[in-house]
Amino acid sequence: MKKDKILIIDDSKSLRLEIKDVLEKAGFDADYFKATNGIEGFKLLLDHPFDLVFCDLVMPQIDGAKFLQMRATKPYLLEVPVLMLTAIGDVEQKIKVLSMGANDYITKPFHPGELVARAQVHLKIKHLQDELRQKNALLVELSTTDSLTKIYNRRHFLELARKEFERSTRMGLQLAFLILDIDYFKQINDTYGHQAGDEVLIKVCKTIEGSLRDYDIFGRYGGDELTIIFPQTELSQAMRVAERLEENVQALSLESIQKKKITLSGGLAAKNSSHKDLESLIKDADEALYRAKQTGRAKIVGF
Ligand code: GH3
Ligand code: MG
Repeated sequence: MKKDKILIIDDSKSLRLEIKDVLEKAGFDADYFKATNGIEGFKLLLDHPFDLVFCDLVMPQIDGAKFLQMRATKPYLLEVPVLMLTAIGDVEQKIKVLSMGANDYITKPFHPGELVARAQVHLKIKHLQDELRQKNALLVELSTTDSLTKIYNRRHFLELARKEFERSTRMGLQLAFLILDIDYFKQINDTYGHQAGDEVLIKVCKTIEGSLRDYDIFGRYGGDELTIIFPQTELSQAMRVAERLEENVQALSLESIQKKKITLSGGLAAKNSSHKDLESLIKDADEALYRAKQTGRAKIVGF
């Protein structure tokens, strides 16, 4: 397991050392950082992924309350547990720091056993939450990307495409839709094997992805069909991009298929007032693709 990072914010050097000493003696495997006031602590918090923070409430200039206020401005910083050190008996102070987002408090002078126990509780929660966040991120990735090519899967592509279609309608923006299909892909599989076919799909997608702008939306529509939404783009402009994509794919040279040329056919449609929904735009692009296939392949046809 990776080492924890613990930040101790206190203007008193002896108290900082005491906290560190207690934790070390209790066997915490951690890297320790120190700050002498709230602003210094906040700067460190921005720069390091801490697992636990101890913060004194009363410090000259920028105190613990201000530290909590600054931390609250960035939601992701609330993932880091903060234990406040407060004066004994002051209930108002304890309520105040908890309401400001502190995860817990320890009264001074502290009992070493209590400090250790509270630190353990909050580190355990932090580790469980980190694990959950990681698993959620993985789930999102799995549910939105195609496992072979790592580009968006059909469902996620359509979801983003629909949003983009609606945005263009709302704001009167242009939009182009391109559907690409690998020519004679079945022959590639039949001649060189399914694994070589997979490699072709992966390389074709990488090539296309590398030639697109960040805001173009690219997905695997199914099988060897790939789709792209070009936001704020008119037909002639999208045509230039589509033709460049086709040329870049033709320039690929893969050993696994004996450097045989790969070509794409494409159907391109630009949104106009007759397109009431995304499906009608896709239908036009599909019709253009059909014509590209019928008239010799290795080309892009505009609707
Ligand atoms: P056309 O030029 O008319 O597009 O011919 P084609 O052979 O590319 O078209 P067809 O639709 O007949 O075949 C598509 C092939 O794509 C059939 C299928 O075996 C193959 N395919 C679909 N998904 C995958 C995949 O994930 N990996 C591999 N290797 N092949 C796939
Ligand atoms: Mg095909």
